[in-house]
Amino acid sequence: MPEEDNCIFCRIVTGDIPCHKLYEDDTTLAFMDINPANPGHALVIPKSHWPDVATIPAEAIGRVAATAKTIAEAVIAALAPDGLNLVQANGRGAAQSVPHLHIHVVPRQRDDGLKLNWGLTPGEPGEIAEWAERIRGELNKK
Ligand code: AMP
Repeated sequence: MPEEDNCIFCRIVTGDIPCHKLYEDDTTLAFMDINPANPGHALVIPKSHWPDVATIPAEAIGRVAATAKTIAEAVIAALAPDGLNLVQANGRGAAQSVPHLHIHVVPRQRDDGLKLNWGLTPGEPGEIAEWAERIRGELNKK
């Protein structure tokens, strides 16, 4: 199992750093975020160290997603938020601050002011088609 000595989430997995644990199984762990964006904000991680969506194996992120669903259902049942976002950041440009893949489970209230929502501004169709072409080009290499 990949692990990094100086990774804060690896140290939570080993128990060197305490957490408010919610759930664990053989490959994933869920615990409360210590800087909650909203009440009930939780995190779900793989126990193994993978930095981001590009490096983690598909099966491993599938397990993380399944645990995120379990946690989301429990958060909804326990706290009855108006809504809930699953958020997953990759890289500095996406404001990832801990380079160990994680999914945020963020309960939402209407008008909670969380800066997460973007307005619906129609894209330029030609531009969208060009982005699609470039992405399909990469997919076709696989
Ligand atoms: P991100 O900025 O998307 O990489 O998210 C990292 C999250 O980890 C932040 O929301 C932090 O509040 C959270 N975090 C960092 N250290 C800890 C810790 N020791 N226990 C719980 N959450 C943490």
